[in-house]
Amino acid sequence: MKLYSPATINELKKKYGFRLSKSLGQNFLTDKNIIDKIIEKSMIGKEDLVIEIGPGIGVLTAAAAEAAGKVIAVEIDRNLIPILKETLSEYDNIEIINSDVLKTDFREILEQNREIDGQKIGGIKILGNLPYYITTPIIMKILEDRVPADSITIMLQKEVADRIKAGPGTKVYGALSVAVQYYCTVAHVVNAPKEIFVPQPKVDSTVIRLDIRKEKAVRLNDEAVFFAVVKAGFGQRRKTLLNSLTGVLGLSKEEIASILEAASIDPVRRAETLSLDEFAALSNAIRPEIN
Ligand code: SAM
Repeated sequence: MKLYSPATINELKKKYGFRLSKSLGQNFLTDKNIIDKIIEKSMIGKEDLVIEIGPGIGVLTAAAAEAAGKVIAVEIDRNLIPILKETLSEYDNIEIINSDVLKTDFREILEQNREIDGQKIGGIKILGNLPYYITTPIIMKILEDRVPADSITIMLQKEVADRIKAGPGTKVYGALSVAVQYYCTVAHVVNAPKEIFVPQPKVDSTVIRLDIRKEKAVRLNDEAVFFAVVKAGFGQRRKTLLNSLTGVLGLSKEEIASILEAASIDPVRRAETLSLDEFAALSNAIRPEIN
């Protein structure tokens, strides 16, 4: 069965009386080259466990199952479960979980899947083409919960992917760029123009791979202080750091001025010019290491 073919999507819709849900962001991939590219760049190995979020009718799931030891696919829409059972019936290394990924405990899944066929699992790769409104929350949930995965390969609205990839001094560099780059390095996978989806969404997409850092990118005395500084700095991105940071963690303008000086950062600079290292230096100057 050619799962990427629009004719297959129509057949399945008819056979199961399935209606696509706009609110669940059901736009299915129909371009084989792009599907192959996503799987290739996910760097899935035969000993790996793949957790796929939002399998739809299973195009990526089937392709991932060819490459992986095991695939666990988490799909919220119970109407898709019988369809997935049919489309993926030839694979014996796929488990489908009917649940909302935002309420799914990744650690519990991993706890139950330490081995594949008696062999310790190699890597853990997360894969997803999800509705746009949950892509950023799910990325941050995985990173903040420190799910011990190697990577997250994910389809995003092109503009959001650009924000995640951005470096200092660019218009789209912001709190999301700093937060994601603190946890991961970011690799471009492939562009996915809106024409390759059925039904066609309004915007183009980009697939990126987030390789979760094994070693921290910067040393922080206090992560909460770092994130508070990043949030405050970009909260009023047009203001100078001296102004945008005044009040953060209850600090006065004078205190912020001396902290900026201690971190060797010019107080008239704006948050959008600061590198990850500079944000780290700044937050470490606010919370100097004790002892
Ligand atoms: N992966 C398929 C593909 O590429 O053709 C389907 C992608 S479609 C954009 C998004 C899928 O995510 C849908 O199947 C939808 O039902 C599912 N989904 C939406 N919200 C979800 C959630 N909170 N948890 C799990 N799956 C969800």
